[in-house]
Amino acid sequence: MAFSRRNALKFSAIAAAAIGVTACNKDTGTAESTVSAPEAAASTATVGSGSKAFLPPAKGPRVVVVGGGWSGLSVAKYTKKMAPNADVILVEQRQSFMSGPVSNLWLVGEVDLDFITNDYLQAARENKYTYFQATVVGVDKVGKTIQTSNGDIDYDYLVLAPGIDYDYSQWTTDPAEELRLKTEYPAAFIPGSETMTLRSKLQDFEGGNFVMTVPGGNYRCLPAPYERACVIADYFKREGIEGKVILLDENAGITIKADGFGSAFKELYGDIIEYYPANKVEKIDLEKKMVYTEFEEFEFADAAFYPHVRGGKLLEVAGVSKDSPFNKHEANIDPFTYEVIGEKDIFCSGDVRPMGFSKSGNTANTEGHYLAKVIAGRINGTQVKWESPLTVCFSAVSMSPVHGISINAGYKYDAEAKAFGFTGVAMNEEWRDKVGTNNGKGLMEWAKGMYRDMFA
Ligand SMILES: Cc1cc2nc3c(=O)[nH]c(=O)nc-3n(C[C@H](O)[C@H](O)[C@H](O)COP(=O)(O)OP(=O)(O)OC[C@H]3O[C@@H](n4cnc5c(N)ncnc54)[C@H](O)[C@@H]3O)c2cc1C
Repeated sequence: MAFSRRNALKFSAIAAAAIGVTACNKDTGTAESTVSAPEAAASTATVGSGSKAFLPPAKGPRVVVVGGGWSGLSVAKYTKKMAPNADVILVEQRQSFMSGPVSNLWLVGEVDLDFITNDYLQAARENKYTYFQATVVGVDKVGKTIQTSNGDIDYDYLVLAPGIDYDYSQWTTDPAEELRLKTEYPAAFIPGSETMTLRSKLQDFEGGNFVMTVPGGNYRCLPAPYERACVIADYFKREGIEGKVILLDENAGITIKADGFGSAFKELYGDIIEYYPANKVEKIDLEKKMVYTEFEEFEFADAAFYPHVRGGKLLEVAGVSKDSPFNKHEANIDPFTYEVIGEKDIFCSGDVRPMGFSKSGNTANTEGHYLAKVIAGRINGTQVKWESPLTVCFSAVSMSPVHGISINAGYKYDAEAKAFGFTGVAMNEEWRDKVGTNNGKGLMEWAKGMYRDMFA
């Protein structure tokens, strides 16, 4: 898999952008954003000084959305659409957007980097809100202010949508070992450098066992680890690499689209993918390059270890998290309004939600549409009826052309069980022949539609 010159150029542009986030102002000696478009508000504030962010005064009720992922982008765009008098600010720490969906295909060169990256400034310009590039480091719930790396911002309504963080505590409590796991064998389930590292690993891979793990709990994107096993096996096959994909699954079996993935593992990659269900990783020996489960031990030439997930750390900092039945530190919210329990006007959405919805982009996007209605309803004084998020998820099982499988489902609340379950499930697990290539085309069209919905 050769890097195209175009991709190499795009890579360096992104790297340069990431490095160039702040530059020292020679005259004042303070940090200053290098972004100059009007929507990207710069600031000369010093962290922790209590200085206000350098922003024009709000002309209407201010809605601050933290996290420019699938959830935050959708909330920001549609709140502004439904409450045009609101002053909507999207606070995101990154300078450009990288998608999780379709990133598995980029790992093996099936799509260009262009396909999975996007421009926050464009989204802000097109949709008339402000993109403020900063990291949120604190929330003053009484004073209704957030503290960011570029100054403080007051809010009337606050949405926290920071996505997931990793919880390595089942594998190690030693920070040095956790750091090595994160740096040397990243999970690549938080898009960005981790994804780039995994792609480089595959490019350099010369053979042997490539070990990957599937965590328990409600982890980010149930099908994605199985999709990734398929695309990597496809790549080994195509490139003639004498490698095995060892997939160690903490769950009793494939957690979703089991027939589709199970048959692809057997029929397409019988000699490449070794799938081990109910194999919870107990120990990883980085010196010996060995993984130990309760039943087996595996040597690895390289690996991507996906640990349990937890709610983004910002929730803990803000004091709005609780352990859910699935994961630690998820949002402590009313599941129908997304409002933080006991905290008026603060909402949490996306993968941080404690409800057992699929942690997927489509879910976060449709939920974002609904939450925008809730917030616009508060501003406009109208009542909003609960709407289920929708999980539409295509997964690739082989490349060139992409063959895929899909699931489409909503959710309903079971008052007796006090839990949500799937409703209206439509599965298409046929990856063979024309049905499979149509699902592959569906995957690409779905992604383009989602990008249009969030950015255009
Ligand atoms: C490999 C892979 C494949 C996937 N495949 C699919 C798929 O096929 N279909 C599908 O629907 N979903 C898929 N997903 C899942 C999907 O990407 C997530 O469910 C979705 O991104 C969740 O949206 P979110 O807004 O909650 O979090 P994110 O999209 O992660 O966004 C969170 C944002 O918050 C920002 N942030 C965090 N903390 C702070 C802070 N303190 N200050 C400022 N900004 C902050 C982060 O930088 C990030 O941009 C996949 C994910 C991966 C990784």
